[in-house]
Amino acid sequence: MAAMASVGLCRAADDARLKQRTEMVSEIAAIDAGAGVPNRSHGIAPGVLSVMRQVPRHEFVPDPQKPHAYENRPLPIGHGQTISQPYIVALMTDLLRVQPGDSVLEIGTGSGYQAAVLSQLARAVYTIEIIEPLGRQACDRLQRLAYRQVACKVGDGYYGWDEHAPYDAIVVTAAASHVPPPLIRQLKPGGRMVIPVGAQFLTQYLLLVEKSPDGSVSTRQILPVRFVPLVGKH
Ligand code: SAH
Repeated sequence: MAAMASVGLCRAADDARLKQRTEMVSEIAAIDAGAGVPNRSHGIAPGVLSVMRQVPRHEFVPDPQKPHAYENRPLPIGHGQTISQPYIVALMTDLLRVQPGDSVLEIGTGSGYQAAVLSQLARAVYTIEIIEPLGRQACDRLQRLAYRQVACKVGDGYYGWDEHAPYDAIVVTAAASHVPPPLIRQLKPGGRMVIPVGAQFLTQYLLLVEKSPDGSVSTRQILPVRFVPLVGKH
């Protein structure tokens, strides 16, 4: 009886969270429709929104933040870092146009949430975190939640992850002062990179960097954003 009652409680909690996630996704779609982001001809793809409806963001935040997990804002995850705002996660994922066979590199694992989202659209996700305890915790979490397509490591993501290069898509979730040349090298011709660039506390822009099939690189500003800085010795 007790076991059945607790199963019932879990199911009720799951249902409540699914409802919250569905509301979060409606909010993302509404912002997207109203944002009028220049240089974008379409809204966030339905496939991306459907993944956002499935990934349990509450599993990626510390206990005190769980009641806020489905609010459309960044939340603290310890070590002075944050899990990004859901709208920004959806937008960055959409800009990458990930295909099912793709191999994706993420710089800045943080909580592991963005990696989990990407892994539902790609063949493989490689993610690097510079703060060791955060990286280890995110890896454990991704394993526990059975996101098996994600491989993680602790290190300075400025230099990318040469072993698995080249990548169809690269996403950087911390703001850099410039686009790191090693990441451009590790991007496949025809590949796309999304990266916030700019100084901390000053205006940063989300950039879409595209490497054409002939290897030439073009960059487009998408919108002003605020990210924690990309740190390291580079
Ligand atoms: N993608 C994360 C958001 C992370 S915030 C999520 O979904 O939760 C950015 C992260 O980038 C922080 O955890 C920060 O420690 C990390 N970071 C900063 N500089 C880095 C670097 N040079 N290499 C790898 N990670 C870095």
